[in-house]
Amino acid sequence: MLDVQKIRKDFPILNRTVNGKPLIYFDNAATSQTPQQVIDVIVDYYSNYNANIHRGVHSLSQEATDAYEQARIKIQKHFNAKQSHEIIFTSGTTHSINLVANGFSSLLKKGDEIIVSALEHHSNIVPWQMLCERTGASLKVIPMNENGELILSDYDALLNEHTKLVFVNHISNALGTINPIEYIIEKAHAVDAAVLVDGAQSCPHLKPDVQALDVDFYVCSAHKICGPTGVGMLYGKEEWLNKLPPYQGGGEMIAEVSFAKTTYAGLPHKFEAGTPNICGGIAFGAALDYMNHIGFKNIAKYENELLDYGTEQLLKIEGLKIYGTAKEKTSVISFNVGTIHPYDIGTILDKMGIAVRTGHHCAQPIMDFYKIPGTIRASFMFYNTKEEIDAFIVALKKAIMMLS
Ligand SMILES: *Cc1c(COP(=O)(O)O)cnc(C)c1O
Repeated sequence: MLDVQKIRKDFPILNRTVNGKPLIYFDNAATSQTPQQVIDVIVDYYSNYNANIHRGVHSLSQEATDAYEQARIKIQKHFNAKQSHEIIFTSGTTHSINLVANGFSSLLKKGDEIIVSALEHHSNIVPWQMLCERTGASLKVIPMNENGELILSDYDALLNEHTKLVFVNHISNALGTINPIEYIIEKAHAVDAAVLVDGAQSCPHLKPDVQALDVDFYVCSAHKICGPTGVGMLYGKEEWLNKLPPYQGGGEMIAEVSFAKTTYAGLPHKFEAGTPNICGGIAFGAALDYMNHIGFKNIAKYENELLDYGTEQLLKIEGLKIYGTAKEKTSVISFNVGTIHPYDIGTILDKMGIAVRTGHHCAQPIMDFYKIPGTIRASFMFYNTKEEIDAFIVALKKAIMMLS
């Protein structure tokens, strides 16, 4: 069982007030909060062993290198990757996706097809559109239904011998839908297409096993898993990472450089040009330790309770409509109330200390599907409580009264 009151003591930010009211933080799908255990690791790094990695013979550099490479191994174990060099440190999900999209430029040609889903974040749409422009490949979209679920029979119909790549998020950031990625991966492999799964929203709630999934690429950001911003990872099967050319040139990623010819370093360094976010990588490892200590089974069970409770309370409000009612979903609730603009409600909630997100959540195609400009999105993590949901409902009712 999860002791939420004890857990909340780990998060200093949860003690602060906003506009004179205790903070209620329901914007976790945009970024999660950071526990003291991770903050301590960051402070320790800059206080005691800040140095550039891999190049130094001196002690600080070796300590920093060891800690950074230990973090890579923690990430490898967490995702059950076969080898640690299949984990590439990046600046986050967006960077990871662009790295892969860029690499595929040299592998695709006119007539090839890429499939994405209707539920994607912009960072999982735009790089593929750019890739299509560069290569002449075409983009196909798996449509969604009214509940916010992908229509799998349409996916089956899109697959053919021209399909080279399939990109889908594990969990939709705008609606919370958990996509059936096992099915999507199996079907894609049947036509020899590679699959990249955007795990930015899944990694806070569950523990993906990349070998069991047999996924080709899996990406996420540390800042949605209780870690710092500016760091994330790309998992890629070794055979794929060897096939892709380097993304950026620079230091760290080379074997030998001369003006006649440069040879590249092996994995993972081939994709890690320049000085990385060393402290961020180490803190990413610490964040996974923290989450694993609480336990992903406990986290999922508790967050599902929050989702059910929040959904039930919200649906009691007249005129409120929830977007995203998939059978399989996580603790993200997107909604609107009548014709009130989401932004107006969000602004009033902020005056009452409550942080929610309003707008299109970087997923305009989903908003277009529902013919709405945006939604209000409340997203819960394991440090939120039912009492906070109660206070949120009271504040929301006040906002609705003021605006109607
Ligand atoms: C947040 C998010 C991203 C982008 O992550 P960054 O950390 O901003 O790069 C991509 N996809 C999904 C589903 C997300 O939730």
